[in-house]
Amino acid sequence: MPTILLRARRAAAEKFSLIAAKYTPADVQVSFRRNLTGCAWAQSRKICVPRPRTRRALHIYLHEIAHVVLAHVHSKPEYLQEYEAELWAFAVMRAEGIEIPAKSLERAANYVRYLIHEAEKHGVTVNYAEVDFDKFLPSSYSQQPLQRAA
Ligand SMILES: [Zn+2]
Repeated sequence: MPTILLRARRAAAEKFSLIAAKYTPADVQVSFRRNLTGCAWAQSRKICVPRPRTRRALHIYLHEIAHVVLAHVHSKPEYLQEYEAELWAFAVMRAEGIEIPAKSLERAANYVRYLIHEAEKHGVTVNYAEVDFDKFLPSSYSQQPLQRAA
């Protein structure tokens, strides 16, 4: 690979790692795994995640941090916790000026749809008012700077 691309990739990896660190509460125990999946234990404040060196890995990392920050201790149905974690991760990426690929939004929406389907299959009452699929539209994450109060 040309040196210039390697340099760009290394710079991006550094940027993503700094963003991950910025949003990781000091008391959260982070362990790393090699594949692009994650796990969170909100109660014991632990996550198991890929090293946040690519955009996809950062998204997974932030999703798991969200479970801890939002105190997802199974007090809500799974579909709702996953919905909230996805939106939190995307909001951070947007705030940090990271472009969110349409396919990441689509994957997240499909994941939540699948969990809703599973919940209903198991007799869980789904409150559709709590889930807004429009938040997974690319237009929700335009790269305009966030509005600030005047
Ligand atoms: Zn999750």
